[in-house]
Amino acid sequence: MNVVVIGAGLSGLMAAQSLQAQGHNVLVVDKGRSPGGRLATRRIGTATLDHGAQFFTVRSEEFAKHVDAWLQQGVVREWCKGFATADGHSRFVGVGGMNAIAKHLATSLEVRCNTLAFAIERGATTAWRLKIDDGSFIDADALIVTCPIPQAYALLVTANVQPPDELLATEYHRTLGLLATLDAPPNVGSPGGMQDPDDTFSFVADNQAKGLSISPAITLNANNAFSLQYWDYPPDEIHAMLIERAKPWLGTANIVESQVKRWRFATPATIWPDRCWHNEQLVLAGDAFGGPKVEGAALSGLTAAKALSE
Ligand SMILES: Cc1cc2nc3c(=O)[nH]c(=O)nc-3n(C[C@H](O)[C@H](O)[C@H](O)COP(=O)(O)OP(=O)(O)OC[C@H]3O[C@@H](n4cnc5c(N)ncnc54)[C@H](O)[C@@H]3O)c2cc1C
Repeated sequence: MNVVVIGAGLSGLMAAQSLQAQGHNVLVVDKGRSPGGRLATRRIGTATLDHGAQFFTVRSEEFAKHVDAWLQQGVVREWCKGFATADGHSRFVGVGGMNAIAKHLATSLEVRCNTLAFAIERGATTAWRLKIDDGSFIDADALIVTCPIPQAYALLVTANVQPPDELLATEYHRTLGLLATLDAPPNVGSPGGMQDPDDTFSFVADNQAKGLSISPAITLNANNAFSLQYWDYPPDEIHAMLIERAKPWLGTANIVESQVKRWRFATPATIWPDRCWHNEQLVLAGDAFGGPKVEGAALSGLTAAKALSE
């Protein structure tokens, strides 16, 4: 089969790799400049900061097999076994940033970035054709759509398929984040990460203590309540508010440079009971199916590939 996967986040890349290993021709398209989606790592000056997913855990044997291979290949490493208290469960990160996992998977795949999928239509000679934002079409025997559900919904309008209304209504939590380079290490403490440290933030990371950045840099991701409340405020006000609330975590360090990052579809608020939805060689997958985490996205991608091969 010629399979087109929309989205080069973890779910799309895992699906693509699995299908390619079975001998299918697979093309992955993504609207972003590089693969990874919410596995996002950014450079500011000499600093490197993770600004989407901060770490991941492993609960299933299926995901563990992939993570073991990544550990052996030097793609991921253990960061710690807990934040405020060690609970014995490993927290893993990408070596060089969370985005390294996506880069690794993309190496062996055909991934076309800067390519926005615009609409899915029925094909004349193949089951589907995908309209790209430049007006061209890509023919496909099968399609896997891994973007957040509201974005997938927009693509399906012209496809004449009807996923369940409850699925299409999936809501997403938002995240407003502050990325800042500093003149000294921040006040985050070992191992360089804090989960839900106060009323504003859901995660605060010292990217240097985490072993990612060669110079001091902090990531502060605000929780859904804060992000929802201030989402529509003017960008300058959001920036100033985040800097004010970041102060306890900066300690004596001063901000050298800072940016606000907005994730409109940060994590799904509800999870579909199956790991993907499929109909007529069209599969919807992503963390809204597998669970709102790195592992959930990976498992959904793998299940999507299986659904097409059956
Ligand atoms: C701020 C933040 C913190 C998080 N922290 C953690 C954490 O610490 N641990 C954890 O396990 N998980 C965390 N998560 C969740 C985790 O990042 C996600 O569950 C996972 O990465 C989702 O992968 P995905 O492939 O389903 O979706 P995505 O990574 O979103 O991939 C979808 C891809 O589709 C592309 N796309 C969308 N529309 C189109 C279109 N029309 N045409 C072409 N391409 C398109 C996008 O560019 C994107 O690359 C966090 C997420 C965020 C945002």
